[in-house]
Amino acid sequence: MTADITVFETKKIITMYPEQPFAEAVAVKDGRILAIGKLQEIVYWLKHSSLGPYMVDTTFNDKVLMPGIVDAHTHVELQALIYSGHFVGQIPWPRVEGGFYPVYPSKAEVLNRLMDLDKRLPPGDPLYAVAYDENKTGEFLHIEELDAVSTKRPILVSNLVFHRFWANSALLLKAGITGNNLPPGVQSDESGKPNGTLFEAKGLMSVLPALPDLVNITNERIRYILPLFTRGGYTTVCDAAVGVFGMQKAFATFSGLLHEPDNRIRIVALPWAKTGVAEAGSLENFIGWVKDAAKKETDAFRIGPVKLYTDGSIISRTSPIGWPGYWDGFPEGDMENDPKEIREMLIRCHEAGLSTVTHANSRPGCQVVLDAVNAAQTLKYRPDMRHRIDHAYNITSSQLQRAKALGVTVQFFTPQIYYYGDAHLKLQGPDRARHITPTGTAKRLGVSWGFHNDPPGTPQLPWVGAWATVHRQTLESETILGPEHCVPVEDALRAMTIDAAYQLHLDSEIGSIEFGKKADFCVLEADPTEVDPMELKDIPVWGTVFSGRPSPAL
Ligand SMILES: [Zn+2]
Repeated sequence: MTADITVFETKKIITMYPEQPFAEAVAVKDGRILAIGKLQEIVYWLKHSSLGPYMVDTTFNDKVLMPGIVDAHTHVELQALIYSGHFVGQIPWPRVEGGFYPVYPSKAEVLNRLMDLDKRLPPGDPLYAVAYDENKTGEFLHIEELDAVSTKRPILVSNLVFHRFWANSALLLKAGITGNNLPPGVQSDESGKPNGTLFEAKGLMSVLPALPDLVNITNERIRYILPLFTRGGYTTVCDAAVGVFGMQKAFATFSGLLHEPDNRIRIVALPWAKTGVAEAGSLENFIGWVKDAAKKETDAFRIGPVKLYTDGSIISRTSPIGWPGYWDGFPEGDMENDPKEIREMLIRCHEAGLSTVTHANSRPGCQVVLDAVNAAQTLKYRPDMRHRIDHAYNITSSQLQRAKALGVTVQFFTPQIYYYGDAHLKLQGPDRARHITPTGTAKRLGVSWGFHNDPPGTPQLPWVGAWATVHRQTLESETILGPEHCVPVEDALRAMTIDAAYQLHLDSEIGSIEFGKKADFCVLEADPTEVDPMELKDIPVWGTVFSGRPSPAL
């Protein structure tokens, strides 16, 4: 007879349950936590119970368990897209198979790589390259440079945060973009001709009809990238733009995929309102679609808050950062969506009982969200909605105070401090750069906060995110950006587990190792609270336990 209860003996369990912070063993039954504590005690009570046979599993007796990591803001579909491209990045991106892609420090090296790819790809196939960082190379790409790679093959290069793109003439021609009548998001030179730069989703959308295969996000392409999550120690992740390539299609893809018996990730879909409303025909229909999808939720596929979007990206210089503008003289950015429209959508979602997550980097962007939540709560008071602001680079202390009063939670993009803190110093000046993603202020004011890697914004490496949250040290100059915002390792661990679960209204099910919760664990080779904090980003991850099943990283 096989045991239907497994007791995992470990070196240490960090529970994230303050009333019982540590333990040495955890018993699991039916994918749930049956008991947590000392091995001897658990075994004693199991022996004296009628719950059935049990076995003690010693696989983890030299390992440290903590709750499975919860990523409150990542992109599953978008990662499936970028991992179908060729990496031309300036920072190391993890390969799904393990290890990292090579880096190309200068624009010349990137162009050489593109030429090499052009020689190797079948004639006529598009060349899609990803993760180019204009801040690290110090140079934008130009249409002539991409035309020098090929005038026949369509070429698209995305910058790493996915807010700026470059196209060659062949791609623009294929997309029907010529002459002076350019669609929104397609930039031109002084003579009115396109210069190859596309910015924000609107620019990308204008060429996508010429690349239909690229955005056909199939089950296989999603399945291919899922091991990235297990390798980090994640057991629940949010896709923060579900439906950007078709909402009903995405719902169907995810529910099918996550139903498979070897699945080892829970995905929370944040329905992307902009394209979702267009696809559904109206905001009311969209709300109806979201509610219908929520009725069909499974344990592995959940519908989360509705995703809204205010401003662009600061390091892509598309966000309106406010007085006195960008310090490198670049023109001020714009709101990507009409604030009135955001406000209306947020209020309607709130009235309908749907929580929201809004992308907002700049102070004006954060203010749009706070004003909208205030208006929504004035029109119809709904306690405990946990509306959320995501990224929140430049949120001020008074805005955080307002967030606290309104019950608004924040998700910070702290890995940007490590990867792009030096660029923020140049773009925003020292004061704003020092206080980006102000974790210290959020903590002091008691605002619920978390952090995320937001690939393709930065790679799917949670421990780099934790390290950046703890140390706030920049990559190139090793400046500590705002030492007053540094937090202890324990705070970072809470942010990536129970606090992220709370923000998703899932804290009764996941996020801590407590009786009755789902048996989702992150399995580590070392104790994150004991290692030298400078080594936190390289902490070895064995894999996960998903729903009680050990799942080693591939
Ligand atoms: Zn995102």
